[in-house]
Amino acid sequence: MYRNETIYFPGTEARNVLVPVTSGCPHNVCTFCTMYKETKYSPVDLSDIEYELKNVDPQSDKVFLVGADPLCVGYDRISSILNLIRKHLPHCARITAYCSVRTLAKYTLEQLKDLCNRGVTALYIGFESGDDEVLKKAKKGHTVAMAIEQAEKLSQAGILFSTVIMYGLAGKGKGVENAIKTAEMVSKFNTYKVVTMNLTVFEGSEIADMIRAGEFVEADGAEKRLELKTFLEHLDMKQSTMFDTRHATNPIKLLGTLPRDKETLLAKLK
Ligand code: SF4
Repeated sequence: MYRNETIYFPGTEARNVLVPVTSGCPHNVCTFCTMYKETKYSPVDLSDIEYELKNVDPQSDKVFLVGADPLCVGYDRISSILNLIRKHLPHCARITAYCSVRTLAKYTLEQLKDLCNRGVTALYIGFESGDDEVLKKAKKGHTVAMAIEQAEKLSQAGILFSTVIMYGLAGKGKGVENAIKTAEMVSKFNTYKVVTMNLTVFEGSEIADMIRAGEFVEADGAEKRLELKTFLEHLDMKQSTMFDTRHATNPIKLLGTLPRDKETLLAKLK
């Protein structure tokens, strides 16, 4: 039930209207994730969404669609939700959400263009890694080729996206290789922001069990730092892109704009 569950949203969305779209996660198998382990996936009723919208400031102009992957409800339902937002928040000009590569693959370019025209201007996407083996082991549910294809589709549709990657996910001894492959993938994107997360093992996650069973060995802090540095070194962004390591999981907090600030940021990682 959406009213009783923890709400996850990027810090940058904290002041915006939070509109519940789904409970739980439709995927819910990523080995490193415990966020929705106890919550069964279900879409929030349209009547409940309308109730929430009736109880916010009608002058609000920014909305964050709450859910692990809210566009997974499909184009028709998202269309209905956008209609409700337009009806109750006529000044809303910016609608954002978390989104998965898997879900984007189910939308046509025309549908994404339509969402963009109706205010869906930016998405936060967990790409995590540019190495298919790492993605498979983490049970992320997409491949590197899928990721690149969906990123290109978003750019064609005019929807901006933030690229979230997770260093440490490859495990001990594989950080540099993962960093290079991930940087190669991200360098193919026109993304407005690259956000790094540091693999953090939570009790209750599958990766915690894998560690106990000897199936995964965590990289230590020095290797993770080298992975982050290698990732940044190999990033070759063709357009101005923010680089942000301020997520709570990162021990080193950096913020800059690539390619301009690359050397300054790298100096802080030495
Ligand atoms: S990382 Fe995202 S897609 Fe994977 S289980 Fe967690 S919420 Fe679901």
